[in-house]
Amino acid sequence: MRIVVALGGNALGNTAQEQLSLVKDTAKPLVDLIEEGHQVVIVHGNGPQVGMINLAMESTNMPFPECGAMSQGYIGFHLQNALQNELKSRGVNKSAATIVTQVIVDKDDQAFSNPTKPIGKFYTAAEVPSLETKGFIVKEDAGRGYRRVVASPFPIEISEKSIVTSLIDAGNIVITCGGGGIPVIKEGNDLIGVPAVIDKDNAAMLLAKTIKADYLVILTAVEKVAINFGTADEKWLSELTIDQAKKYCAEGHFAPGSMLPKVEACIMFAESSNERKSLITSLEKAKEGLKGLTGTVIK
Ligand code: ADP
Ligand code: MG
Repeated sequence: MRIVVALGGNALGNTAQEQLSLVKDTAKPLVDLIEEGHQVVIVHGNGPQVGMINLAMESTNMPFPECGAMSQGYIGFHLQNALQNELKSRGVNKSAATIVTQVIVDKDDQAFSNPTKPIGKFYTAAEVPSLETKGFIVKEDAGRGYRRVVASPFPIEISEKSIVTSLIDAGNIVITCGGGGIPVIKEGNDLIGVPAVIDKDNAAMLLAKTIKADYLVILTAVEKVAINFGTADEKWLSELTIDQAKKYCAEGHFAPGSMLPKVEACIMFAESSNERKSLITSLEKAKEGLKGLTGTVIK
């Protein structure tokens, strides 16, 4: 099967040292899937990493899309390094490479008129005016201080899609759409980077549709999705139809910004064809989940 795997924050950690060590463990279950004969394409998040890069680059006025590109390169390096080492140690003759990926968003996306995604460090009220003169939108963040916020627009098209497809078709392992992709808008024939963050689960969903994958696999910190999560009535779900999943979304069972975008991305992929399935599970359970033994499947 052709599988798009979206890796959550727990696969990468928060610092370079942590990441370099964690990716070795992340590579193992991914190479298990490759050894089983699946074509695996990898998407990852970049929240902590892009925040760190943005903060470190502050004195150079590095624009946010460039910080996103750096995070794709840095995380991609660690992942491809760990994957190649793991493949080699098992005698699997395949290579992994990272593609710096631009993802086209609509410049009229309503997300741009209501930026919600906090990025970078906290500021004091006194620092706000000077940030606003730089054109940044700054919002108060839950009593903890002020933070820059950017929009989270919906991904429309993957600019490098034909390159990604040829690499996959040739049998390579591709790491793409990292951090949801670098958001770009169309100005005539040009693509222009914009300060925004595309949800990585949505980007993985678009990628899975674009490359005609069979399975969208979202790997996160939990083995299954629950209704009444964190309450006495908590119930872990194994299989969901699209209609059931939509109903649970509407009833508010999934936290916005964490589980909700995953379930919504899974619905959109599964809805695009009867043969397509989506799975939410943990990295450790990916192999079992694909065999139908655990995780939450939406179809
Ligand atoms: P990632 O970095 O993988 O995107 P997130 O923290 O954004 O991870 O989302 C995964 C988290 O969502 C889980 O660790 C869990 O705590 C939380 N969560 C919220 N609602 C649910 C639910 N209904 N069922 C399972 N997990 C949920
Ligand atoms: Mg998340």
